[in-house]
Amino acid sequence: RAKSEGRGTYRFFEAKMGVEVRERRLLEHDLRHAVARGEMQLVYQPQTDVGTGEVIGFEALLRWKHPERGYVSPAVFIPIAEESDAILQIGEWVLREACREAATWPQPLAVAVNVSAVQIHSPHLVGLVHEVLLKTGLAPYRLEVEVTETALISDPNRALLTLRQLKALGLRIAMDDFGTGYSSLSNLRSFPFDKIKIDGSFVRSVDSNEQTAAIVRSVLGLGRGLGLPVLAEGVETEAELGFLVAERCHEAQGYLMGRPSPIGEFAQYTHGTIPLIADARKRA
Ligand code: C2E
Ligand code: MG
Ligand code: MG
Ligand code: MG
Repeated sequence: RAKSEGRGTYRFFEAKMGVEVRERRLLEHDLRHAVARGEMQLVYQPQTDVGTGEVIGFEALLRWKHPERGYVSPAVFIPIAEESDAILQIGEWVLREACREAATWPQPLAVAVNVSAVQIHSPHLVGLVHEVLLKTGLAPYRLEVEVTETALISDPNRALLTLRQLKALGLRIAMDDFGTGYSSLSNLRSFPFDKIKIDGSFVRSVDSNEQTAAIVRSVLGLGRGLGLPVLAEGVETEAELGFLVAERCHEAQGYLMGRPSPIGEFAQYTHGTIPLIADARKRA
């Protein structure tokens, strides 16, 4: 009996794997047409100065509205797009769209754009960014490129060259998801980052978990030592923000300050002065 159950389980997994592979192929196929069919959209999430509470910029986050499936998470479709190279076309669209949008905002507001490993290793990325900046008229210092450590490891020398060339255009580079890679410290030394983004998994319950608090404090110390501003991702509660204020974290981003939303919902920031999203200093 056990044997037949075992076989049944095996068959079940085999069938399930078949479904997953088929699913992936279907999504991969649909992804190739998603930009042309107008199914891609950018939402924006405010990034705030912890000390003053001011909005200093927005991260552009990609959303795919599939005609039959509805919204597909970037956590699902970005890896598929990366494997199939569709990411190059999609990434180009993201860059053009985000810079075009940001060029309409008041001067100091910046836009942060996620750039994948495949893009970093593309020989066309630097030329593309240069062209998009010229065409949109966005001042280079208002563009921040977010890269994860995993985007750098497959060919570190090539990645280093690309990051240097991007910086030569005048834009800034942020290390995304800091703490989740496996050689964070040497990457900080080897690559010309302008900002560290602490992954949300370290920010969650930083106010109540002593180990998490110790890790975040040490990343803040690292940032101070290296002269790099630190942004805390995934801030959801007043208590988490309170900790970041007390520890003099520079910037924060998360549902507490604003969920990723169509840019129209942030019109008070992008079509006027830059009001405080919340008076962070009062919370300290
Ligand atoms: P990421 O760049 O680290 O973006 C942060 C993610 O955390 C976003 O998920 C955001 O919606 C979510 N988030 C923000 N605040 C909170 C919070 O307070 N609590 C929680 N639980 N989550 C929060 P999203 O939009 O689903 O994107 C997931 C990942 O997909 C991104 O991680 C990024 O790696 C990738 N991605 C998104 N857009 C693009 C894109 O245009 N190009 C590339 N290459 N990757 C992208
Ligand atoms: Mg990011
Ligand atoms: Mg992140
Ligand atoms: Mg991430």
